[in-house]
Amino acid sequence: MVLTFTEEEKQFLKNVQEFVDEDVAPCTRAWEKDTFPKDIWKRCASLGITHVVFPKDLGGLGLSCGTLVETCRIIATGDPALSMNVSALNALCVAHFEHFANDEQRSKYLPGILSGDCPLAWALTEPEAGSDARRVQTTAIPIADRPGYFHLKGEKIFTTNGGFAKLIIVIARIDDENLSAFLVEKDQPEIKDLGRIETVGVKASYTWHFYMSDAVGWHTPGSFEEVISLLHRGRVCIGAMAVGIAEKALELGIEYSKQRVQFGRPLAKMQSVQNMIADSGMWVDAARLLVHKAAWMYDQGMPIVKEASCCKLFASETARDVTNRMLQIHGGRGMTPDYLIEKLWRDAKLTEIGEGASEIQRLIIAKQLLK
Ligand SMILES: Cc1cc2nc3c(=O)[nH]c(=O)nc-3n(C[C@H](O)[C@H](O)[C@H](O)COP(=O)(O)OP(=O)(O)OC[C@H]3O[C@@H](n4cnc5c(N)ncnc54)[C@H](O)[C@@H]3O)c2cc1C
Repeated sequence: MVLTFTEEEKQFLKNVQEFVDEDVAPCTRAWEKDTFPKDIWKRCASLGITHVVFPKDLGGLGLSCGTLVETCRIIATGDPALSMNVSALNALCVAHFEHFANDEQRSKYLPGILSGDCPLAWALTEPEAGSDARRVQTTAIPIADRPGYFHLKGEKIFTTNGGFAKLIIVIARIDDENLSAFLVEKDQPEIKDLGRIETVGVKASYTWHFYMSDAVGWHTPGSFEEVISLLHRGRVCIGAMAVGIAEKALELGIEYSKQRVQFGRPLAKMQSVQNMIADSGMWVDAARLLVHKAAWMYDQGMPIVKEASCCKLFASETARDVTNRMLQIHGGRGMTPDYLIEKLWRDAKLTEIGEGASEIQRLIIAKQLLK
């Protein structure tokens, strides 16, 4: 199993790397003080970063899942918050239009989505429905004289990109048994802004909290299980984000260990420091391989339920441990904002929680192995 790329995919990844080197990495500290620049989604859309795997005949780039995960990994080396957003946009939001939207919905929204004029968000989580996602309490009631349209009532939290989004894909309850997804335009008086959620890591991301009081939603038919199955590929992208964070942390730790001298020699000459570097290098390689394996299997049309959870779990714990070890190598300076390592250490935490916390990934893996 080796990820291979077409010439088009190689060129695209080269463009992504240039974008990260020139326009993302230099801004990562500034962005976390507030949020991304207003034109971020137009810039990303112009490069195709918002619709990497979306089919060509619908206006996307139609590239492989392998290319998407490499995109998320590369972006995470420059700004993990942007990587998280790119992951959600591609794997959950734009993918929703591929699998569940009808022609009328596509013709209305796709032009704006593909140009970056209509940023998207995906809202499943609620105050009482986190890991237990089926507990969603937001209700969807059909509007009598508007077939396909529903009134949505309920509260959503932790919506990535909610602050920028113009259209939100909202998961809501149709009746006691059934949940489904709805396209909800944000610019409605029935949507109340309950504020931006501050987080310790991925701070640049505009994480949103909102309430809908009979907001109008356009149904995109699909069962709850079908709709949230998009999370499998999403988890591979979060795994790739974790690999990117760990790679960058390792690079910074190695660099620092070579220039910091104590007891008359660089830290890099000390065996306990070398052990931290060796272990980290090994785990980063293993995490990258697991992410690549899941992406490769997806591209072969194989099921990836277990592999997606395995790679996200392993890569997120790798990002946690590698950032922690590399911060340790930086000593006291590692705890200051003068060094990027403290930011990566904070950003890594999201990968253990978003798109299903590690405990939930373990439940999924065990269920697959025990069936
Ligand atoms: C920055 C950020 C961005 C996010 N973006 C989005 C988004 O765009 N859209 C969206 O819908 N959601 C989003 N989320 C929400 C995220 O998916 C949830 O936070 C996550 O699923 C966990 O849910 P919870 O926070 O309610 O924790 P809880 O479900 O309350 O879990 C708390 C702890 O209990 C553990 N736990 C729960 N149940 C079990 C169990 N059965 N067995 C063992 N342990 C268990 C969990 O693993 C966790 O450690 C985001 C979250 C963050 C922090």
